Amino acid sequence: MQIGHAGDQRPDVPREQVSAGESTVVAGESADLAPATRALRALPSVERLVQIAADACAGWPRPMIVDAAREALAWARERARAGDPPPAAASLVTTMVEMLHQRTSPSLRTVINATGVILHTNLGRAPVSEAAGQAMLMAATHYSNLEFDLDSGERGSRHVHLRTLLREVTGAEDGLVVNNNAGAVLLCLSALAGGREVIVSRGQAVEIGGGFRIPEVMRQSGADLVEVGTTNRTYLSDYEAAITERTALLLRVHPSNFRLDGFVHAVGIAEMTDLGRRRGVGVMDDLGSGALLDPRSFGLRDEPLVQDSVRAGATVVCFSGDKLLGGPQAGVIVGSREAIERIRRHPLARALRIDKVSLAGLEATLRHYQRGEATRMIPIWRMIARSCDDLERRARQIERSIGSPRVRAAEMLATVGGGSLPQETLPSWGLVISPITADPGQSAHSLARRLRNRVRPIIGRVERDAVWLDLRTVEPEHDAEVLAALRSELTE
Ligand SMILES: *Cc1c(COP(=O)(O)O)cnc(C)c1O
Repeated sequence: MQIGHAGDQRPDVPREQVSAGESTVVAGESADLAPATRALRALPSVERLVQIAADACAGWPRPMIVDAAREALAWARERARAGDPPPAAASLVTTMVEMLHQRTSPSLRTVINATGVILHTNLGRAPVSEAAGQAMLMAATHYSNLEFDLDSGERGSRHVHLRTLLREVTGAEDGLVVNNNAGAVLLCLSALAGGREVIVSRGQAVEIGGGFRIPEVMRQSGADLVEVGTTNRTYLSDYEAAITERTALLLRVHPSNFRLDGFVHAVGIAEMTDLGRRRGVGVMDDLGSGALLDPRSFGLRDEPLVQDSVRAGATVVCFSGDKLLGGPQAGVIVGSREAIERIRRHPLARALRIDKVSLAGLEATLRHYQRGEATRMIPIWRMIARSCDDLERRARQIERSIGSPRVRAAEMLATVGGGSLPQETLPSWGLVISPITADPGQSAHSLARRLRNRVRPIIGRVERDAVWLDLRTVEPEHDAEVLAALRSELTE
C-alpha cells in the first residue's frame, strides 16, 4: 500500500485493486488504536456505500457504481493512512458521482487551439466550414442518394457526386476520392505500377510522419522503387537514364515536413511530364497538401498548386482533403480518364473507399472553391488570411480586461503545419502568461496543464518558461472563453 502520497488527488485510475469489505482489516493492528486506524474503521463498507449512494447514482449500471464505491473508499483509505480525518459519506458520494461522470463522458472533445499551428495534426488538422459541417451532419443522420441514381431509380456510384466538381476546380479529366492521401498513394501505385518500376528522386524517398514512408508504401503496393540522383540534387537526366521497359511511373513526392536549402536541385513537374510523354511512361505527383489557392497571396512561399500539376499533364495527382484544402479527412486523386478508371477498378479502391460523411463534407468544401468563396468560408484560409492588426487588437483587449502584469499581449509566430510550407511562419499576436517563479504550483507547465484540464481544453505552448496563446488559430467568438479561463486560473 502506498502511504502518504494521496494528497487531495482523487484517483481516476485505481492504483491497485482493493477488495470489498476491507475497511475493517488493518495491518499491524494493536490494542490502543492509532488515529489512522480509527479513521479507517469509520469508513463504510463497499456494500453500505453503494446503498448510501443509490439515489445520487441512479441511472448508472450497478457494476459501475460498485467500482466507483471501491475506488472512492480506496482514496479515503489512503487519506486516512496519511493521517487525514475520514471523509464524510456525502463527500464519498460526490467523489463517486464525479468518477461516474468522468468515465461516461466523451473521450474525444473539442478544444481551443491556441498553439498557432493552423493544421495541427494532433488536434485534428483542418476544422471544416459551417456548410461542410452541416452537410456532414445531414449525411450522417439521414438517408441519401449515396449510391442511388435518382433518374433511373437504379443503383449508382458514390463517386459520381464529386467527379464533375473535381474536374471543374482542378482542370483534370477525371477524379476519385478515397479515405485519406496515404491510401490514395498506395492505391495509385498499386493500380498503375504494381509489379513494375517507379522512379523517385533520392531527395523525395521521404517519411511524412505517422509511419508513412515512401519506400515502405512502395513495397506494399508491389511496385519496385528505383531511386535516382542524390539527396540534394537530382536532374532530368537521372530519371531519363533509369527508364527501362519495366518503368511504369516517374513519381514526384512533396517533401512536406522538411526543406532542403542551398546546393539543391529538383526537377519540376513540367519537365517530368515532358520526359514521361517522350518515353511513354506515366507521371504521378503526390502533392501532400494540395493547395488550390496560391499561398503567396497571403505572404507565404509558393506551394505547388494542384491545377499546375494537372496543366503540366501529370497522369495522376493526389493530395489530402484535410490539409490546405481545408476539408474533412480524405485522399483526392485527379488525372487522366484512363488512369482514374484503372484506379477505380482496382480491388483496393473498395477497401479504401471514402465514407459518406466525409464525402458530404468534401463536396461542400469543394463547392466553396467552385463559388470563389474559399478564403471567406473555409476556416483554415480565414486563419491564414487574418490580419495582424486584428490579432493585435484582440490580444490587447484580453490583456486590458485581465489587467494583470502576468498576462501581456505579444507578437509571435504562427505556422501553417500539417507538412505544408515547412519552416514558414506567419506573423501573429497572442498572449504570454508568465509564471510566478517562486511558486512551483504556478509554473508555466502547471498553468498549461490546468488550461488543458478545463471542460473545453485550451491548448497553448510553453516557451521560454511562459505559456503562449496564439490567437491566429483561435476563433474570435472564443476570445471570451480564453479570457474567462485566464481570469479563473490567475486568481486560483
Ligand atoms: C500528408 C501527406 C501524405 C498523407 O496524407 P494523409 O491525408 O495524412 O493520409 C502523403 N504524402 C504526402 C506528401 C503528404 O504530405
